Amino acid sequence: RPVVGVLALQGDVREHLAALREQGAEPVAVRRPEELAAVDGLVLPGGESTTIVKLAARFALLEPLRAAVRGGLPAYGSCAGMILLADRILDAPPDQETVGGLDVTVRRNAFGRQVDSFESEVGLGLDGGPLRAVFIRAPWVEEAGAGVEVLGRVVGGAADGRIVAVRQGNVVATSFHPELTGDRRVHELFVDIVRRHLAERAGCAHSGAAG
Ligand code: GLN
Repeated sequence: RPVVGVLALQGDVREHLAALREQGAEPVAVRRPEELAAVDGLVLPGGESTTIVKLAARFALLEPLRAAVRGGLPAYGSCAGMILLADRILDAPPDQETVGGLDVTVRRNAFGRQVDSFESEVGLGLDGGPLRAVFIRAPWVEEAGAGVEVLGRVVGGAADGRIVAVRQGNVVATSFHPELTGDRRVHELFVDIVRRHLAERAGCAHSGAAG
């Protein structure tokens, strides 16, 4: 079973651990560099990105996180996790650092300061039709680079058409919180990416040994 970590510095860690277990992964909480080094994929949960990134720096995890994602470790960020994975962020404190790896510009609290949480339909580029999504002080993707696949957009309302789910190679991010609803398609996609990545690596190791 693929071992999938959840960055457990702050935020809704338990919900992701449960969702990953449902998808057949072995979920583990990640707080230390040694724990990060032992996972086949990593979820960056929702919470408060300013807090998470400060804690990551304090726990000596920020550089290892950057190196891991740059090195191809599958990563999935939801809400604050999306902000952490973005290469560029708007409406953030000027000194807010990111892990990066996703060629997007993300706007924090994009749906309006007064908008705390709401549900909306998201048109999803995955089998099974639209998804009922929960947004909590959520960001959106303001701009996506050419190599970024748009997986989901808001349907209807003032934010109609806004990009809220993306994928670039092994990196997936959503503005919303699929771990809080019963729809497991995003976690299913992510665990699938982790499995493929593992299989590819095993293939390389195998051919390396044979050659
Ligand atoms: N607004 C939060 C941030 O900037 C994200 C909210 C969330 O993860 N639910 O980090």
